[in-house]
Amino acid sequence: MVGLLSVLAHDLGLTRLTMGDIAPLILSGMGTALLIQPFLQPRLLRWFPLPLPWITLLVTGIQLGLMLQFIRLDQYGYLAAFGCLLGLVTMQCYLGMNFGGRASLLTGVVVTLLVHGLYVAVGGEDSLLRPEQEFLFVVSALAITAVMAMANGFQRRRREHLAQLYKQQAEQNRLIREQKLALDLRSRELIRANDSLRQVSLSDGLTGVANRRCLDETLGREWLRHVRSITAGQRSSDPAEHNGLALLLIDIDAFKAYNDRYGHSAGDECLRQVAGAIRRATLRLNDLTARYGGEEFAVLLPDTAIEGAEQVARRIMANIQALDIAHDDSPVAPRITVSLGIAHVGNETQIEAAALLKLADQALYQAKNQGRNRIMVHALA
Ligand code: GH3
Ligand code: MG
Ligand code: MG
Repeated sequence: MVGLLSVLAHDLGLTRLTMGDIAPLILSGMGTALLIQPFLQPRLLRWFPLPLPWITLLVTGIQLGLMLQFIRLDQYGYLAAFGCLLGLVTMQCYLGMNFGGRASLLTGVVVTLLVHGLYVAVGGEDSLLRPEQEFLFVVSALAITAVMAMANGFQRRRREHLAQLYKQQAEQNRLIREQKLALDLRSRELIRANDSLRQVSLSDGLTGVANRRCLDETLGREWLRHVRSITAGQRSSDPAEHNGLALLLIDIDAFKAYNDRYGHSAGDECLRQVAGAIRRATLRLNDLTARYGGEEFAVLLPDTAIEGAEQVARRIMANIQALDIAHDDSPVAPRITVSLGIAHVGNETQIEAAALLKLADQALYQAKNQGRNRIMVHALA
């Protein structure tokens, strides 16, 4: 804009100064401003030895020297001064950019008055400017200062607004992160609660061993595994040895009489001890001890041969005998005893899982019929 004005003034014959004369002045001002601009971040200014007003005055001083030189060269000095002043004010406003509208305006006003004062002081009697020209000179400079200050102020506000938005966004991100963390924590708690709920839903409240539902689920699973391994073995030329699946049903003898004689809570305690004795008799991780109902327990032994199942059964009998729980009203022995039925399937796949339970029940029934406190085995090939 300053360049255009000076070209126009030259073409109209108002000044002898050409664009080439004024351009270095304007460009030096703008260039200095642009060079300094990146260093004017308030954060960096703290470490900068020369604060803004001093830089401004320094650059202004250099420009004033140049301006006065131009005025002396030109008989239409006020136009040269006008052009120079525009350059100065522009520079001031650039310098003020990072400090908003008020700082720009203040710098512009101070510089304008400084330039004018110096011009009057140095020019003295020889001043080439008439009073109305001086007036025009100052008013133009102040008008440009005001416009630039407004632009700077607007830019500053926009930057502050953006900074505010970034801050809000950062705060929201922090909140989201916190909520995500809380959610993770909550879902971990839920998973844990779910696990313990599942644990509770699958175990027997009185004795702590697995309950009937757990037994049914596990039996279904193990039965499928049993069928799969047999069919896989039949297809293979080198069938891996398959031990079969065993189910033990254990029923406490004359337990009704025990309850009648010693009371229900003694009966409960007896059930707990018997459950522990049965569980201690199973050694493998996959063996399952469950309370089948009332005073009946079941033991599922996956991948176990009939001999292994009998061994476990004998260990159960021995463990219960070792408990030595007195039962004076038992027709079998003066202590708690159990009857035990074993069902075992080897390579049979045609029956259903429930048939294994039926088989074990039949064996148990036989053990009861034959006088209790004994083991009976029903095995399928
Ligand atoms: P058998 O030798 O033929 O097995 O005779 P039994 O008396 O053990 O069999 P019966 O089925 O007649 O009685 C089972 C008893 O077990 C009846 C019931 O009071 C008792 N019982 C079942 N569940 C519990 C329990 O949770 N706690 C207690 N204390 N007793 C129970
Ligand atoms: Mg019973
Ligand atoms: Mg019984």
